[in-house]
Amino acid sequence: MIPVSEPNLSGNEEAYAIDAVRSTWISSSGKYLNQFEEMFRSYVGTKHALAVSNGTVALHLALLALEIGPGDEVIVPNFTYIATANAVRYVGATPVLADMDPVTWNISVDSIKRLINSRTKAIIPVHLYGLACAMDEIMALADSHGIHVIEDAAEAIGSEYKGRRLGSIGKISTFSLYGNKTITTGEGGMVTTNDDKIAKFIHLLKNQGVSPTKRYWFEVIGYNYRMTNLQAAIGCAQMEQLEKFIAYKQRNAQTYSSLLSPEFGRPAELSHARNTFWMYCTLVPARINRDDFCAHLAKNGIETRPFFYLLSTMPPYATTKAEVSQDAKDIAGRGINLPSSTKLTEADIKKIATVANEFLRSRG
Ligand SMILES: *Cc1c(COP(=O)(O)O)cnc(C)c1O
Repeated sequence: MIPVSEPNLSGNEEAYAIDAVRSTWISSSGKYLNQFEEMFRSYVGTKHALAVSNGTVALHLALLALEIGPGDEVIVPNFTYIATANAVRYVGATPVLADMDPVTWNISVDSIKRLINSRTKAIIPVHLYGLACAMDEIMALADSHGIHVIEDAAEAIGSEYKGRRLGSIGKISTFSLYGNKTITTGEGGMVTTNDDKIAKFIHLLKNQGVSPTKRYWFEVIGYNYRMTNLQAAIGCAQMEQLEKFIAYKQRNAQTYSSLLSPEFGRPAELSHARNTFWMYCTLVPARINRDDFCAHLAKNGIETRPFFYLLSTMPPYATTKAEVSQDAKDIAGRGINLPSSTKLTEADIKKIATVANEFLRSRG
């Protein structure tokens, strides 16, 4: 089976992990943690990067740091991974689900405009599958209403918007380092920000609220959201490979786009945004049943995954305020991710495209 994604641990991951074990620094402090945060910070281009246990708690910490809570609304895309909206619920605030831009499949700026009101405290644009949201418009809109922007860059490390790395534009940004993300630490996440006060507060919160100067003295109710040095050791080796991974993913995308029948929908090409193609996306033609298509690929040893379901269609968000266009329903229903790992060969992609194109032909 050609997997949709698979971690690539072919660099110094093993050597650094063994080094961490031999040093006995396997818990949540050590040289690899400091080094990983420094590498991440300088790569994204922010003043601070704080390593945490996963991308979901990174979002939770970002919302806590902005003191968002009950009575507040946070605008998130209806089309995203569920963690984006769940984190808003964790702080007792109300997520409001914005519509999809039918070209980029990211959050619609017009929909955000319609949903902003006096209770809105933040917007969380999600750079889906590696492509940047319309950050200039979103930042301008947020600034004019005095609300914060948290970038959910879980799927977009290394992606850019007008020459700036994603995760360096909003007030706070979050990343995931889960096993299927562009770089991984198994489980893991990162929070980036240029704001010294916010960085200090997030450091306090992720460390159980313990005073940085007085041991066993707790200043606030915090959380244990720390990453381990063992995970960070793997993270350092992944950072060394990141640009190579991105080059592979971009090459994979180019090959797919050139070989797939033009009947398949393709990711938007924006001249001002560097797409890192975390996962290659395509839209199955409307005349074809998506499940039949995916079953056919699976029979031929090719794994696929459907696009995210719109949050408003799932039980936890069925009664949440949402804008849902026909385009969003259509795209969420037709979209799939094709195998996108860095280990994919050109022969793999040729096989995948051939199987996909032949299925279309067989259906007229
Ligand atoms: C993966 C992901 C997350 C959550 O990250 P975890 O590390 O799995 O907790 C959040 N938002 C988006 C858009 C993601 O893709």
